[in-house]
Amino acid sequence: MISIKSKSDIEKMLEAGKIAAEALNTVEAKLRPGMTTKDIDKIVHQVIVSHGATPNFLGLYGFPASACVSVNEEVIHGIPGSRRLNEGDIVSVDLGACYKGWNSDTCFTFPVGEVRPEISQLLTDTNASLYAAIEKAQVGARLGDVSHTVEDYCRSRGYGIVMNYCGHGIGKEVHEEPEVPNHGKAGHGIRLVEGMTICIEPMINLKGDGVHVMPNQWTVVTDNGCWSAHFEHMVLITANGPVIMTKR
Ligand code: MG
Repeated sequence: MISIKSKSDIEKMLEAGKIAAEALNTVEAKLRPGMTTKDIDKIVHQVIVSHGATPNFLGLYGFPASACVSVNEEVIHGIPGSRRLNEGDIVSVDLGACYKGWNSDTCFTFPVGEVRPEISQLLTDTNASLYAAIEKAQVGARLGDVSHTVEDYCRSRGYGIVMNYCGHGIGKEVHEEPEVPNHGKAGHGIRLVEGMTICIEPMINLKGDGVHVMPNQWTVVTDNGCWSAHFEHMVLITANGPVIMTKR
């Protein structure tokens, strides 16, 4: 079932979204070569709890940290640890806050210092595909319109699309219906209505669609070792158009 949020639900989700956005802003401000992925997790945890919220990834399906921190060829679900960031790396920081029982979820892929031009373009394009998809999240549109937009934007630029992981509804639970894939047919799928809250999250590989899970049972990496970008916003569907609830 897809939950429709009331005005008071939305207020709390907006607050949860603001806290998550601040966590990303803080990570960006402190990001330096030489930092470990665990250092990033600590920053995220500290920002979220300082607002009286809880990091909703911590313990979710048994995940052991407050943020998923994925470097270079890691697509999603990187477990923070001793891996050090080098100049020229990219790092995806995926996180969420639970505030008064309501959740947020957002992700941004940061360059660490100067990155190769093709990687910089991958980040720009993946983020742009997210915003193009958000623009389609209008009352009366179909979910397929959103999914197809990501697919079309990224395929036409020669990128690989992660097919077997997707965005999702969000509310009292981090992951709710509906699934929001990064591929699909325009004009198909459920109709979007006012008060729905969905996370749109393109996961785009420089080349090739294939990914697999590492032996740690969590970290998803590209099959060919190509680098991968991941951007996510939590979006509210309204009669006046989509509202980005995790706006930075
Ligand atoms: Mg998500």
